[in-house]
Amino acid sequence: MTTERTFSIIKPDATRRNLTGAVTKLLEEAGLRVVASKRIHLTRDQAEEFYGVHRERPFFNDLVSFMISGPVVVQVLEGDNAVAKNRDVMGATNPANADAGTIRKELAESIEANSVHGSDSLENAATEIAFFFTSDEIVG
Ligand code: ADP
Ligand code: MG
Repeated sequence: MTTERTFSIIKPDATRRNLTGAVTKLLEEAGLRVVASKRIHLTRDQAEEFYGVHRERPFFNDLVSFMISGPVVVQVLEGDNAVAKNRDVMGATNPANADAGTIRKELAESIEANSVHGSDSLENAATEIAFFFTSDEIVG
């Protein structure tokens, strides 16, 4: 077991439905610890840069519009194998394909409005954490 940090976003569909606590409860029950958290409203520039890897995908413009449609909660999560553990508790991108008990199966609205983002590698986690947090904002 290796203690890792990963990056999570509670997306606008979840904050709109007042599910910040419900999402966080599932994260905590999975063994992840919230070591940094803030509620922010992404700018279009921030959302476009954050999702830059998807710039050529047909859903990119809709995704950016969705991500700036309301507040989000950005978080740093810590735990054993936190990157994989978070991806497990998130569930599949399309909630229709997600396993029972996962955040996306239980809470998400659609393949786009799927309630959470989670880093897909330790390297991307470090980049994404640094995009939103300074080291003094992370208290383990
Ligand atoms: P994940 O969030 O599971 O890592 P991706 O990185 O592939 O998934 O996609 C990033 C986000 O883009 C997804 O979480 C979802 O909000 C949106 N998205 C992905 N695929 C589609 C799609 N086919 N149609 C609409 N939105 C999508
Ligand atoms: Mg992804």
